[in-house]
Amino acid sequence: MPEGLEAEIYRRSAERCIGRTVAAVEIDDRQVMAFEIRSTLPAGTVTAARRIGKLLLLDLAFDSVAGPTFGVHFGMTGRLVVDGAAPIERLEYGSGRDDPAWDRLTIRFTDGGLLRVNDPRRWAVFTLDADETRYGPDMFDIDGDALATSFGRRRAAVKAVMLDQTVIAGLGNLCVDEVLWQAGVSPLAPVGSLDRPRVEALVAAMRTNLPAMLELGGSHRGVIDPETRVALPPCPRDGAPMRRQTIGGRTTVWCPFHQL
Ligand SMILES: [Zn+2]
Repeated sequence: MPEGLEAEIYRRSAERCIGRTVAAVEIDDRQVMAFEIRSTLPAGTVTAARRIGKLLLLDLAFDSVAGPTFGVHFGMTGRLVVDGAAPIERLEYGSGRDDPAWDRLTIRFTDGGLLRVNDPRRWAVFTLDADETRYGPDMFDIDGDALATSFGRRRAAVKAVMLDQTVIAGLGNLCVDEVLWQAGVSPLAPVGSLDRPRVEALVAAMRTNLPAMLELGGSHRGVIDPETRVALPPCPRDGAPMRRQTIGGRTTVWCPFHQL
């Protein structure tokens, strides 16, 4: 499913829309804000393409006056297509097909270009002026002080806490497993039990491995990739048997030998 890395890839693609003016919007009527979005966006000019966590944000202006911010949360299978080009052709658990019947949103620009969100499973959500204050620091920016403060003395498992978007914005299931594997931290460790060097190891893994995965194509490009998650080969670091279990409600793959 699209994580923060995929949202960043989509954000880069959406930069092509900056300076363009919305002519018309087609949107799935099942969207809660369908009416507001359809009636508000036309005549707005895109001034910025931003990302918070897994959320893509397009700032709009009307006659040079700042207007509302349009947001896309990509759900399970949502894909962004700008001017017919999809930056991610195939999501790991999605379909490679671009069936027009799955378009849940089409923004038509006055220059003839199109921004579409194609979503077979219909879990993408479109927003206006989403509450941006409910997200924690971004996965690319968070530092040891902020992470240690968020962890505090909580007893919850680090796997569950790192998936919490109010603690770190942008991480999904694949990226959390990768960061924990790289940092050598057990997904079951209570966050309050992690000493400062282990918190810093998590930050270092986010700073190093997430950008590398982004450049390789997204959240499926880590060591704990989808093939590894299914086949469960010996740990690439030490050869120990890897384990797959549900932690924090999500399937977690980890190495009990070096993740302590
Ligand atoms: Zn290992």
